[in-house]
Order: sequence, then C-alpha cells, then structure tokens
Amino acid sequence: MKTKLIRVDAEDLQDEEKSDSAKRALEEAGEIIRKGGLVAFPTETVYGLGGDALNPESSKKIYAAKGRPSDNPLIIHIADMEHLGRITKEVPQSAYQLAAAFWPGPLTMILPKAEEVPCQTTGGLDTVAVRMPSHPVAMEFIKAAGGYVAAPSANLSGKPSPTTAKYVVQDMDGRIDMIIDGDGVDIGLESTIVDLTGDKPMILRPGYITEEMLDRVLGQVEIDQTLFKADSNLHPKAPGMKYRHYAPKGELVLVEGNPEAVVSYINEQTRMRKERGEKTGVIGTSEMAGRYEADSVKIAGSRKDEAAIARQLYTFLREFDDEEVAYMYAESFAGTGMRQAIMNRLLKAAGHKIIKLD
Ligand code: AMP
Ligand code: MG
Repeated sequence: MKTKLIRVDAEDLQDEEKSDSAKRALEEAGEIIRKGGLVAFPTETVYGLGGDALNPESSKKIYAAKGRPSDNPLIIHIADMEHLGRITKEVPQSAYQLAAAFWPGPLTMILPKAEEVPCQTTGGLDTVAVRMPSHPVAMEFIKAAGGYVAAPSANLSGKPSPTTAKYVVQDMDGRIDMIIDGDGVDIGLESTIVDLTGDKPMILRPGYITEEMLDRVLGQVEIDQTLFKADSNLHPKAPGMKYRHYAPKGELVLVEGNPEAVVSYINEQTRMRKERGEKTGVIGTSEMAGRYEADSVKIAGSRKDEAAIARQLYTFLREFDDEEVAYMYAESFAGTGMRQAIMNRLLKAAGHKIIKLD
C-alpha cells in the first residue's frame, strides 16, 4: 500500500490564506476514514492511528497495521459533546463534570458502551473508552471523518508512541492510507484514562491530567495499584497496560537515590559496558548535565520541569534505538502529579528494572 503523507499545521487552520487548503486536505483524510481506510494524525498527547470506530472492519485493520493483540481495546475520539450519547449508555454525572473541566484535552473516560459500538473496537468489552482531543488538526479531522475515530497510538505494537510524524512514517509507511504531519506534539505521553463504570472513579493509566486534578473535580479518585508493581501475575484493569509497551531495543535501567550517588553508579556501569565494547546511553536532567560519561547523553531539562521530561521521553527512547544503544540508564522521577505518568512509562520501558541507592 502506498501511504500518502500530507502536512497540516494547527496554525494553517487559523491562517486566512492557508485555511481553505488545510481544510480540504483534512476533508480528504476524513473521506479515507469514512470509506474504511486508516489515517495517522497528530493529537496533543501522541500521534494516533485512526479508523472509523463504528466500522468493525476498520478496527480489524488498525490491529493488523499495529500488530496489536485484538483484546486490547481502542479509544474512540470525538470532537463534539453531542456525539457522546451515540456510543455510550447511562453517562454518569461525573463524566459531564470531567468533560466540563478537561475536554477537549488529554483525558479518556471509560463508560458503558452503546450497542452500536462494534465489539472489535472495544476488544470484546461492554465498556468504551472516549476522548475529545484538543489539537485543532485532530478536531477538524475527526469532524471530517464523521465524528467517531477509533485510534490507538500510531506505533507498531511494543514500540514507544510516536511524538513526531517522522516516527509514524518509520513504523507505518506502507501499512496505512495516509499520515497527517502536524509537527511535534505538546504533551508527549498518552492520555490519562479514568474508569467511571465502578463504585469509585479509578485511574487506569496516569497522564498529564493528574490524580490531584481529578480529585479536585470529583472528590476521591483511586489509582490502579497494579500499575506500579513488577509482579506479572497482577493484571492491570486497562487491558493494554499489561503489555511491555514503550520498549526500546536495548536494556533500560532506572536509578533512584541522591543525585551524586546516581551519577556515580551510572558512570560506573557505563564505563564497564564501554570496556566491553557496548554502546551506552543516559536520560538525565540539566542539574547533572556534563557529569555523565555514556556514549549518548539525553538531557530532558530541569528535574523541576516535568512537562519537558514527559514531552521528550519517547523521542529519547526512539533515538537510542536509532543509535543502536545497547544499555541505557535513566534518572528516576518518583513522585506525585505528572511524575506518576513519567514513572509509569519509564518503568514499563525498563521492564520494571530499578536500582534503589541510598
Ligand atoms: P492506546 O490507544 O495505545 O493509547 O491504548 C488505549 C488504552 O486504553 C489501552 O491501554 C487500553 O487497554 C485502554 N482501554 C481502551 N478501552 C478500554 C476499556 N473499555 N476499558 C479499559 N481500558 C480500556
Ligand atoms: Mg499505544
């Protein structure tokens, strides 16, 4: 299959001269979806691989293009609150409260599914995941596509989610109909998932919308504790979270402790690996920049700037793959707020290998 690559910037949609042609391009992308094809598109979190959520054949194609296990359900992206009713039943008050606070934005809600949503889209579950993204290109595209776009991240299963079109091309060229290049993403980690079908709202996947932010709107929110445990016998509540996602090709280890001890430990390890002729990498912060001796050192910015760390994390993991780095070490970012999301993704990429120094 030949994959068409088009470029549409968010600013083009606002620009008097460019907006017509940008809208026409997205109209063409929407038509591909309506006819049962697949289009990758930018969102504020990561790039999505979209298909018609109400067409079971489209969902099957998404799983095939990604090489994704078909028990791992897809998120349905909408661009209009009016569209929520068609794909859900019994929407609780809490969903409207969260939508008012965080939509459009990086929050996915799990709700009871309507009959019309094919079980191929929900991986056989009787619940459905719904999100309204805020990226203007995503919004226009979803509208042009008929309003209901099922989309997982646009990477091959097991690889880090793509944060630029370059990595979508790397994984999806020849496998899908079109890729919309909308430049780099803002957030860099997948949406927060909150399940509203149980007794209490529960976070199934941490993200940019933090536990504290959800608490402020709903009162008590719980977080699926299995997410932070290495025990592979425990099954997380979001089916997709059990897979070793976000994996770089080499081996990643997280190192936690006081900063001096962390630098010494990592340098000791990388020295030893280098002596054996193995390529090494580090993900560190500007506070420790210049101190690391690894072959490839990625500085995410200040330890205090969590948004910058989140935005670059997957890019770093992809770059290590491109550079064929065999052993990687990352500073640990244990903590609350957005650090929960950063650590969740890092721990998964590391297969839960973490060294705790004291
Ligand atoms: P991705 O599209 O790559 O961001 O992955 C979607 C995530 O949402 C996966 O971890 C899925 O397991 C999760 N998910 C989607 N639908 C549901 C659902 N109905 N219940 C629980 N988790 C879901
Ligand atoms: Mg994914």
